[in-house]
Amino acid sequence: MLLNETSTPLSFASADPHSPWATYIAQVDRVAPYLGHLSKWIDTLKRPKRVLIVDVPIEMDDGSVRHFEGYRVQHNLSRGPGKGGIRFHPDVTLDEVMALSAWMTIKTAGVGLPFGGAKGGVRVDPSQLSVKELERMTRRYTSEIGLIIGPQRDIPAPDVNTNAQVMAWMMDTYSMNTGATATGVVTGKPIHLGGSLGRVKATGRGVFVTGREAARRINLPLEGARVAVQGFGNVGSVAAQLFAEAGTRIVAVQDHSGTIVNPAGLDALKLGEHVARHGGVRGFEAAEPADSDAFWDVECDILIPAALEGQIDSARAQRIKARLVLEGANGPTLPEGDDVLQERGILVVPDVICNAGGVTVSYFEWVQDFSSFFWTEEEINVRLDKIMTDSLRYIWQTADKHRITLRTATFAVACERILSAREERGLYP
Ligand code: GLU
Repeated sequence: MLLNETSTPLSFASADPHSPWATYIAQVDRVAPYLGHLSKWIDTLKRPKRVLIVDVPIEMDDGSVRHFEGYRVQHNLSRGPGKGGIRFHPDVTLDEVMALSAWMTIKTAGVGLPFGGAKGGVRVDPSQLSVKELERMTRRYTSEIGLIIGPQRDIPAPDVNTNAQVMAWMMDTYSMNTGATATGVVTGKPIHLGGSLGRVKATGRGVFVTGREAARRINLPLEGARVAVQGFGNVGSVAAQLFAEAGTRIVAVQDHSGTIVNPAGLDALKLGEHVARHGGVRGFEAAEPADSDAFWDVECDILIPAALEGQIDSARAQRIKARLVLEGANGPTLPEGDDVLQERGILVVPDVICNAGGVTVSYFEWVQDFSSFFWTEEEINVRLDKIMTDSLRYIWQTADKHRITLRTATFAVACERILSAREERGLYP
């Protein structure tokens, strides 16, 4: 057998060439030439270590019973326990959770956190559940994945449509099942349950920090720069507010409810309040509604996709006007979109470094829970800024050295760390 001959494709991955897992595999294939002797181990990254599929039955408020599909995937545990969020969304699939878990492996290694990569999800539309139904669903799902999670095994966190309340239910369920209060089993918890200051804003803050550094390198002054944001949840709204504070103009925002534009710049804080009240950006008075497809033609300098995967294909990549794309979302750009952006000289700060601020402060939370000693918000933000800035600088050096994109460079840095750990630990038995 050739040393790096590819093993048979996974029977449980989607056959769709644009699926999230297919996107991830294409990204791994691009890094192979830069791994030297470690490329022998590359198939480790092309198959998740462990996949758990669970049935989540709950009693609905009307007395009927419904079943939901749940997953927890541990992609790689070579460098430490699994780490990664839990997503509640009607379109969740195993393929998607696998890809999201793999991006966590790359992300934690890229910023040097002592974690592997994992992810979970339930195929459910949480807006259709009452609070009590959501709680029962969360608790049953937590019990089911309780087989493989734990403070030293795999630590969930918030992701799309999950928040501190969901983490509190998860922490309580796991603690009740194991008979001891285990704050370190999840991160992103409420502050008085062992949560960390700064965690809620950490992902958006990381997007801002990496964006600020990238803008500096391409001589794009933030003062007056035009920013377009897709997704105004926890990531997009915080990033937009921090960019607005730095003097940029937020000229377009798109979310599931609609698209709004204001070339003079809109008030990101007020928009945040509007979204909290109405559930989406639609109807915000201080902006004009626009066609959703027109979002990709908006005149802007910085584009922040902060919603879901697979948004930037080659056609949209041709239309984007920005000089800089900051991937707040996981997996927003397809490989062919990446190629077009690169050809057009548009710089992409990839998800695996751009949105790593969330998991970085999750790490701080986990450490604080273990030591039962809590840091100030300022300490957290200063440390977050330093880790993100230093990690990006090293990734940039790698990109310059091999003349590769920041995405392939982040994969190169991360895969080197993951596969070295893999090799040093050795195969057992
Ligand atoms: N869900 C977030 C992400 O995609 C955070 C994961 C975590 O904090 O463990 O990075």
